[in-house]
Amino acid sequence: MTHIIGDPCIGTKDTACVAVCPVDCIHPTKEDADFEQEEMLYIDPETCIDCGLCVDECPVTAIWPEDEVPDDQQKHFETNAEYFKRNPA
Ligand code: SF4
Repeated sequence: MTHIIGDPCIGTKDTACVAVCPVDCIHPTKEDADFEQEEMLYIDPETCIDCGLCVDECPVTAIWPEDEVPDDQQKHFETNAEYFKRNPA
């Protein structure tokens, strides 16, 4: 299981979620070189422990647990995972 970040994050990139994630699986952070060029943040599905702490931190309600991702946000299973394929740890 994982959590997914979706469309409301585009152009928002608040990063409050980054601060609370206990396993640092939300990127890019403000410290990452690609922070400005990426339009949104992503969650690494291989690392997320499904704690849910990030959900309430998001000011634009852009994060959902895997089984609650809205139908129109299903594409973000791929966009979240794909970011970490482009940027392996
Ligand atoms: Fe990080 Fe927990 Fe959110 Fe997963 S659910 S991204 S582990 S804060």
